[in-house]
Amino acid sequence: LSKEYDLLILGYGAAAFSAAIKASEITSGQASIAMVGTGPLGGTCVNVGCVPSKMLISAAKNLKYIAKPRYPGLKATYAVETGEVMDFIRMAVDEERHNKYEAVISGYENIDLYRSRAVFTGDRRVKLDDGQELFGYNVLIATGSRPSIPAVPGLANAGYITSNEFWALERIPESLVIIGSGPIGSEIGQAAARLGSRVHIVEIADQILPGISKDMAQMVMDAMASDGVEFSLSSMVKDVSVRNGKKIVRFEKNGVQHEIEADEILVATGRSPNADLDLEKTGVKYDRYGIEVDSTLRTSNRKIYAAGDVVKQRLKLETLASKEGVIAAENMFDHAGISVDLNSFPVAVFTSPEYASVGYTEDEALKAGLNYDVRSIYTTDVPKERILRNDRGMIKIVAEQGTGRIIGIQIVAENAADMINEASAILHAGMTVGDVIDTPHVFPTVNEGIKLAAQSFLRDISMMSCCME
Ligand SMILES: Cc1cc2nc3c(=O)[nH]c(=O)nc-3n(C[C@H](O)[C@H](O)[C@H](O)COP(=O)(O)OP(=O)(O)OC[C@H]3O[C@@H](n4cnc5c(N)ncnc54)[C@H](O)[C@@H]3O)c2cc1C
Repeated sequence: LSKEYDLLILGYGAAAFSAAIKASEITSGQASIAMVGTGPLGGTCVNVGCVPSKMLISAAKNLKYIAKPRYPGLKATYAVETGEVMDFIRMAVDEERHNKYEAVISGYENIDLYRSRAVFTGDRRVKLDDGQELFGYNVLIATGSRPSIPAVPGLANAGYITSNEFWALERIPESLVIIGSGPIGSEIGQAAARLGSRVHIVEIADQILPGISKDMAQMVMDAMASDGVEFSLSSMVKDVSVRNGKKIVRFEKNGVQHEIEADEILVATGRSPNADLDLEKTGVKYDRYGIEVDSTLRTSNRKIYAAGDVVKQRLKLETLASKEGVIAAENMFDHAGISVDLNSFPVAVFTSPEYASVGYTEDEALKAGLNYDVRSIYTTDVPKERILRNDRGMIKIVAEQGTGRIIGIQIVAENAADMINEASAILHAGMTVGDVIDTPHVFPTVNEGIKLAAQSFLRDISMMSCCME
């Protein structure tokens, strides 16, 4: 006999938690909810994703400022013990998981937790590892994604790590080959290099961070190169072998074969949805990119929703997973009919400088056939960036021709990920270039750069005095 729940959630990561909490709020704790998951509570972000990676980046940035102070007259001696950094990160992750997931869930009496894999056996019915069956009147699939591994001869034999295993390393390897220069490869690669590792990134595309505009990617790449990261772009990994205890990665670039030797290989070539759930048994359509949903996150089975990384969508983000969990719960229990708006969702890459974007890029506006104007400024035009002695960065604004309504903002700056929140609010409010110019900003702050970029639509900013409206 199967146990029945008002809401059965597969997964206990970001999307699952926010859906469970929202459904509890909407029903004043009356909905019976089951969350089924594997691995540590909280899923990818807290355990092996956002949290440990941002800590590693922060540690590396601290060292960078000590090793190379930005003002003359400052000198420091320093030593690096990456083992201690990794130990601290593991401890901090445990604490974060406890505070934000374990302690939180214990406060909800209506939520039962099952630690098991689940697969569908029929309509809205799943089986757990111990043979137990659960049924949900409503079901949310929030099983996330996992690193996808390319079929490279010799890779499995030689051994490799992904962003899942990186955090268990005793110390950061002395040399590291990273396959893939997306956000994960670039973020970890730069931080590892700053902490003393010899890092070589091999990327099949002709730029790093494929998908972002070339000029901005180049700016980030130059900064990473100045931290010692080596790059082989337009390079296809052919095979991997082991020689004298070292891993050898062979790749082809412009028809020429090359080899790099390293202590460890980090595979960062993208992520695949965890959709191996026998979904056919419950009539949910999916393909290798994820579960198909409509704009309200409903799958092809009307009583089953999906949220987060398992969904077939171009963004894979903690914030998006959480938002989608909330929207799915509202649509299931409040019949709210709320849609997800991916276009207004901000994204960030936490390299140094960071890259962040919201809305249309110039390329996307062009492809969409929109009539737009675009302006960009360098962050060296912004007083606070000069005070901080940040020497690389750029802010671009894409605005609708005629109305001046802002439809996209991209930033490369040391604090681009924080700055993009203002950009996100600008798009959310439907503000124009004029509205941004009219909004007072604190002097000196890095966010003044957004206002300055808006002003560049009207005049030559090099001819303006400081803080002029
Ligand atoms: C290195 C790295 C850095 C990142 N940095 C950021 C960042 O800075 N900012 C940001 O916004 N995003 C970041 N992300 C992305 C973010 O972590 C994910 O988008 C987010 O965690 C997805 O949440 P989710 O709930 O969809 O899935 P997850 O958190 O992965 O949860 C899925 C859960 O489902 C479980 N599960 C899987 N299969 C089954 C099954 N058959 N039965 C039962 N349970 C199952 C899993 O064990 C897991 O508990 C990063 C990701 C990585 C890997």
